[in-house]
Amino acid sequence: MADQAHTQTAGPRRPPFGGPEADRPKYYTFGYAGHMPGDLTPFLSETGAFVADVRLVPNSTMPAWQGPALKARWADRYVHVRELGNQAYKEPGAEFAIVDLEAGIARLLRAPGPVVIMCGCGALATCHRRIIAEALQALGHEVPEILAQETGEPLHPPARILAPAARQLSMFD
Ligand SMILES: [Zn+2]
Repeated sequence: MADQAHTQTAGPRRPPFGGPEADRPKYYTFGYAGHMPGDLTPFLSETGAFVADVRLVPNSTMPAWQGPALKARWADRYVHVRELGNQAYKEPGAEFAIVDLEAGIARLLRAPGPVVIMCGCGALATCHRRIIAEALQALGHEVPEILAQETGEPLHPPARILAPAARQLSMFD
């Protein structure tokens, strides 16, 4: 609602990223439960997206999902954004306690390409990545969830997401 009002009264709905990629979302959310890292790789290749790992500690009982393994797999496409970690992640049902939402969002806004905001939780509704998505939505961004188990969405980006031109990507920290 507020977003619509904004559209009518002031400027473009989306921030001016410029270039031909401006029409697709810049931010996505993803919960890796039930997936392997390789499931996400086609999406990263096709969109040129970074992975922002928003787990407080990039650790997992599954070795493939541990930070160093992801860094080895995705190199500069993988960034752990500790500022967006949830300090209460060990307390199911507890209020989210994001380390520094403002600083974390600022990092995401500096990203030179699309960003997949990744946590281990399967369900978006009960994961703190929803709070991060809402903060970006408040800034006018569309933030679709990708590869959702519960909706059975395909493992590939929607057709309207164009393949990026070959280019150098750098880390955004
Ligand atoms: Zn989560």
